[in-house]
Amino acid sequence: MNNEKVEDKLHPSHKTRFSDASSFDEICIHCGAHDILLGGWGQLALPCPKAPSKEVKKVEEPTASKV
Ligand SMILES: [Zn+2]
Repeated sequence: MNNEKVEDKLHPSHKTRFSDASSFDEICIHCGAHDILLGGWGQLALPCPKAPSKEVKKVEEPTASKV
């Protein structure tokens, strides 16, 4: 990557929910990343690769496939 700072906190682009799994507590509903690291956010500290982009509109497909 570039000079992205990896801060030890949850990146706001992730949408997490609480998980009952014993290996992690929160999981992103978009990309599935979770805080696997003890005392850290793991993948959740990085920008969510599947977060819905509201600012940048690239190509909107006219498909009605909303889940
Ligand atoms: Zn995510």
